[in-house]
Amino acid sequence: MSVFNDGNHLNIYIVLGSIVLLAIIVFVRYLVFSSLYHLVFFNWFKTRFVNRFLHNKPWKKKQLKKEILWSMISGFIFALFIMLTFILNIEGYTAVYTELDEYPIWYLFVSIILVLFLQDTYYYWVHRWMHLPKIYKYFHLVHHKSIHTSVFTAFSFHPLETVLQALVIPILAILVPLHLYAIIAIITLMTISATINHAGVEVYPSGRFGAWFKKWVIGATHHDVHHKKFNYNYGLYFTFWDRWMKTEHQK
Ligand SMILES: [Zn+2]
Ligand SMILES: [Zn+2]
Repeated sequence: MSVFNDGNHLNIYIVLGSIVLLAIIVFVRYLVFSSLYHLVFFNWFKTRFVNRFLHNKPWKKKQLKKEILWSMISGFIFALFIMLTFILNIEGYTAVYTELDEYPIWYLFVSIILVLFLQDTYYYWVHRWMHLPKIYKYFHLVHHKSIHTSVFTAFSFHPLETVLQALVIPILAILVPLHLYAIIAIITLMTISATINHAGVEVYPSGRFGAWFKKWVIGATHHDVHHKKFNYNYGLYFTFWDRWMKTEHQK
């Protein structure tokens, strides 16, 4: 018995209401984070680090509108899958745990890295599949309509692509024991990474540490090449797969 389930069947009104509420939360998270990132970083870098901008093209209103509209739909699809995961959790099908001492504390950090690695691996191969000519226009074209990306491109996907992305949420929740703190950290990292990669401005540090970091972690420059050159740099968070599969652009 739970608020979603009266013992015999799911309370459909509470489930639907929760999906709408979740969709609003997911969408507002994207809008607020993207806007703040643009206001803080973009403007701050504009006056200090001109050479870090990947293009000088002003935003096109039409492109922004489309990106925000597709992102609204993405928010709804993610909400559906979060709700599904929530119900699976209530019914006892997930490995999500609530007490911190159920696993050693180091596992909390390992679980975050493990999920990022699994998600990165999944996305790399799904991404390459979506670039196959027959698949591309149905799944992935919407995201690539933005050649000069903006912070609002971060969540702009065709619904079919969004389904493929959101599918990992219940799968990972079933397979990997995750604490709520780890889930919050993963969602935060997902949001930050997607925004950084599309903002059109390189924010990672320069110098030796920056060079090492950029060698392994995908940032704006790396993903910008994907939007411009198309057949390189398919990764999501890390460069491993692009390097191993020789799909990393040499510049
Ligand atoms: Zn692509
Ligand atoms: Zn992209």
